[in-house]
Amino acid sequence: MEIIRIPRIVQDTCKKYRMKGRSVGFVPTMGALHEGHLSLIRRSRMENDITVVSIFVNPLQFGPSEDLARYPRDVESDSNKISALETDILFLPDDALMYSPAFSTSVEVAGVSEKLCGRFRPGHFRGVATVVAKLFNIVSPTRAYFGQKDYQQTVVIRRMVKDLNFDLEVVICPTIREHDGLAISSRNTYLGPEERIAAAAIHRSLSRGAGAVLQGERSAGRIREMVEEGLAAEKLINRIDYVAAVDLATLDDVEEIGREIVLAAAVRIGKTRLIDNLLVNV
Ligand code: AMP
Repeated sequence: MEIIRIPRIVQDTCKKYRMKGRSVGFVPTMGALHEGHLSLIRRSRMENDITVVSIFVNPLQFGPSEDLARYPRDVESDSNKISALETDILFLPDDALMYSPAFSTSVEVAGVSEKLCGRFRPGHFRGVATVVAKLFNIVSPTRAYFGQKDYQQTVVIRRMVKDLNFDLEVVICPTIREHDGLAISSRNTYLGPEERIAAAAIHRSLSRGAGAVLQGERSAGRIREMVEEGLAAEKLINRIDYVAAVDLATLDDVEEIGREIVLAAAVRIGKTRLIDNLLVNV
């Protein structure tokens, strides 16, 4: 595995592969790699000749009161995990090479960025879209891999890819979970032992809501209430940012469930903000 820190060198290397007719799969991450990330890398390895993984804790997508400084970082362990999966290139850009002092461009995907998490994290999806656009231009992948766990992010990126004519396929991979259903996340490491147990209530409550839809409940309001009740019953969940039943593409609230929807929630346990979602088909 090659470890490259300079965007220009990744760009030249990937272009050469593409010119030789090789497919390039790309997995962008912020590191602190877990089974969720590794599932994306395995999928890319299966579907492409070359796999590029990036690790970059993107300052643009963190708000001023968010966890940029304490976000978990362990490049050595990450690098071993990626190398064990026979990744071809690990791209580890320095902040300064990604964002020069004169950097002044941003990519704003209006509409879908403002819903759900966008209401609580202003500017977050602008930061995500901007860095992903940069990374796409550096790697020029054939396919790029994202997790369903961050459902809104996948919608924002798909919209950006269509709107800006990026010549690549966005592949969405299923959410990998712990044994009790908790979606694996780098932020789970912030949780104390009791908080960790409490966090399982997120998936449990969403599953109860999804189960009710499968049993014939069609009122999104009633489903949201059921999920909220489940979350509120867990004392260590100290804030519910939202519980939402939304359209797959527009992320607009659904009232009467007549087709596949996303059931999504964001909560706080202590200072840790956790999100999860389920796709529910009628
Ligand atoms: P992050 O490092 O948190 O920015 O995540 C990098 C990629 O891994 C994103 O596309 C995430 O959606 C994806 N990801 C994170 N957690 C999981 C998970 N539990 N299952 C599947 N994909 C995940």
